[in-house]
Amino acid sequence: MTKTENIIDLRSDTVTKPTEAMLSAMVGAELGDDVYGEDPTVNRLEELAADLSAKEASIFVPSGTQSNLLALLVHCERGDEYIVGQQGHTYKYEGGGAAVLGSIQPQPLDYDSDGTLNLSLVKSYIKPDDPHFAKTKLLCLENTQAGKALPIDYLKKARAFCSSNGLALHLDGARLFNACVSLGESLTTITDQFDTVSICLSKGLGAPVGSVLCGPEKLVKKARRWRKVLGGGMRQAGILAAAGIYALENHIDRLAEDHENASMLSDLLAGINDSRIKVSDAQTNMVFLSLQDVDPIAFSKKLAEKNILTTPSVKMRLVTHLNVDRRDIPYVAEVMSSVLKGL
Ligand SMILES: *Cc1c(COP(=O)(O)O)cnc(C)c1O
Repeated sequence: MTKTENIIDLRSDTVTKPTEAMLSAMVGAELGDDVYGEDPTVNRLEELAADLSAKEASIFVPSGTQSNLLALLVHCERGDEYIVGQQGHTYKYEGGGAAVLGSIQPQPLDYDSDGTLNLSLVKSYIKPDDPHFAKTKLLCLENTQAGKALPIDYLKKARAFCSSNGLALHLDGARLFNACVSLGESLTTITDQFDTVSICLSKGLGAPVGSVLCGPEKLVKKARRWRKVLGGGMRQAGILAAAGIYALENHIDRLAEDHENASMLSDLLAGINDSRIKVSDAQTNMVFLSLQDVDPIAFSKKLAEKNILTTPSVKMRLVTHLNVDRRDIPYVAEVMSSVLKGL
């Protein structure tokens, strides 16, 4: 139940399965109808997430995509605009939800190499108050961005920038705890800089389902209405929330192991003497492997034959997580080396 034996799945940290202890917490959860606000376990998770992030309230939702969409819907109205990274999840990987469901226009900008958005550039894209333009209302950042933890100094500057330019500031913190653990910073040092923060429980934290959106009571109340509209009002959701509570209480510190494993993987892959591959330094729980003159599909297929799952790409993202063991790492490096020799 907890781990598919012998498969090393490096495609994403979303693939983690609940541990036995997490399953016990789920089975034992006290339940009620959460649409009536009566699921004690969901209520406990929402209080816990609000406390941890030092926000007035939080709301439990089925996915990070929905959590980000709710944030966009509470900060922006029809005809408003948010500024976001060109590779940002909230722009590129959420099916255009803000436009489809909120009539909200994205203004995507290229990230700098450290995953930040240059604030002078952002400034130049804030539209003047003129009927020709959408109304710029929100800046949306991502942390970690492609595994990179954004510098705290930058986040403080972004906060001051948004306050002085009349913008709200939302964080897509799908992997926010990876950033905290990697920087050795408390969660609130980061969340204090944002109006709203979305955190995934189903990535490195290892819960099967769910995210939380944390923010001021007034905005969370508005989000609760939109969650129902989007079909995200779940009934005895405490069974899922229990996994989230378990994850927040037990799986944060262990993210350091994932980071060590990624680092070890990066070091071992860098030792492979093959000019067709280039390996990035580990960024939290991710390593990027650039392939030149190697067919990514053939490479992934050969790896899969050796029980190593990857997403074929010329820039292959390898992600460590709860179900990747330290002892798997040398095996992965060895197999990659021998597979490359045959291609
Ligand atoms: C995974 C992820 C999300 C949300 O994804 P869901 O699969 O909808 O839970 C949001 N932002 C980033 C950066 C992510 O990696």
